[in-house]
Amino acid sequence: MQDNWKAAERLDLNHPELQQLQFEKLRQQLIRVYEESPYYREKFDRAGVNPHEFSSIEQYKDYPTFDKYEERESQAQSLREHNHPLGMHLTCDIREVNRMSASSGTTGTPSFQGHTARDREIISRNFARMAEMCGLKRGDKVMMAGVMSMWVAGIPTVDALLSFGANVIPIGGLVGTAKVVEMIQLTRPQVIVCTPSFARQMLKKSRTELGVDLSIQGVESLVVYGEPGGSVPEIVRELSEGFGGASIFDMSGGTGCLNPIFSQCREHAGMHFIAPDSAYIELYDRETNTVLPWEDGAEGEFVYTGLDRECGPLIRFMDGDKMRVHMTPCKCGLPGMRFEILGRVDDMLLVKGVNVFPTAVRDLVMSFEGEVTGNVRILKESESPVVQPPLRVKVECVGQPDSAIRTSLKQRIEEKIQRQLRFRAEISLFDENTLKMEYGATGKVKLLESAPSS
Ligand SMILES: [Zn+2]
Repeated sequence: MQDNWKAAERLDLNHPELQQLQFEKLRQQLIRVYEESPYYREKFDRAGVNPHEFSSIEQYKDYPTFDKYEERESQAQSLREHNHPLGMHLTCDIREVNRMSASSGTTGTPSFQGHTARDREIISRNFARMAEMCGLKRGDKVMMAGVMSMWVAGIPTVDALLSFGANVIPIGGLVGTAKVVEMIQLTRPQVIVCTPSFARQMLKKSRTELGVDLSIQGVESLVVYGEPGGSVPEIVRELSEGFGGASIFDMSGGTGCLNPIFSQCREHAGMHFIAPDSAYIELYDRETNTVLPWEDGAEGEFVYTGLDRECGPLIRFMDGDKMRVHMTPCKCGLPGMRFEILGRVDDMLLVKGVNVFPTAVRDLVMSFEGEVTGNVRILKESESPVVQPPLRVKVECVGQPDSAIRTSLKQRIEEKIQRQLRFRAEISLFDENTLKMEYGATGKVKLLESAPSS
């Protein structure tokens, strides 16, 4: 099947042809969930909207939104009442569900997704688009070195790779970096899929303990996911150099959609939205409670609606990532919307009235490349996002610098934070290998650390 997805009328969110397609698919999806799920029917009735009267996209802002708390409640209720965790918002027969996966919540309670066979087909189609963007070819040896489990980026990624026709080497990251490095030498994959921090660990361990040069193993590209590292220039450069000039691609999904709906291109100019025929995204401004037009440079949260998902589509789901969008055509030639993630609204700290994303602190520390390893931890004294300055930050140095170098480095980082992020920080420096990275259930590095108040 010819999938002419790169045409402007298929990607440009302001193109009338795409807008018409999205409206029609959205209308059908709203009617479907209204008819098939008592949960959605009640929710829509309560909000006073009826999909049978949905006649213009302007009406969509009146539809109720969905968030992870509601999703979790809905899933707890379906477990109690119907013996499955897919939520009261399930919109297909439970026996039509072909696979379940889970994503980690920041609070530790997982949320579950189900996919029908048709959902999996659309995932495979979207994956093929992403693969094309990343230069992946059928028959390429692809090592899956991420955590291989029911997490969305685990077995479901292997499933999509198999459908795509890759030659999959499903080792999984849980065997440890040493074993994965050994298998890279023994199987010579062209592509490695893992988290950026796992890739960095492999490089470090290969150099310091294993005596293996990963730059000569023939790795052509790394597809990384789960952490912002794949979009941080210093980390991209480090990985590319360490793996002998490999191209680095960031894989990231949209909550509740038939992912991947986003992909990076070789220009590394943000993430491209590659499946507007499969997901409807609104750009939402929390402060003014309005949906923003798609304009270059606009900032807001994405609100996701799965347009053709059969099993429990999320309708107007807010997942709390703040984005900045780019609407000008990319240097790679592709039209449509691109974006960068500014950070999670949930993780956002308020330091002396200044909004601070932990990733922004980490990225700034990373600009001292060569002097710092990139292991960074922000200490947080309570559950509240409000932090009294100075913000306490642990930073790991390269090697064991003497006290003069430490004093200078500490001062330079603190000054740069003050200058660029506009708040006071107190940096504590650690020798290399003494600030241990901690991982969450899906292999993501934790940036925040609970600390007793000082
Ligand atoms: Zn591009």
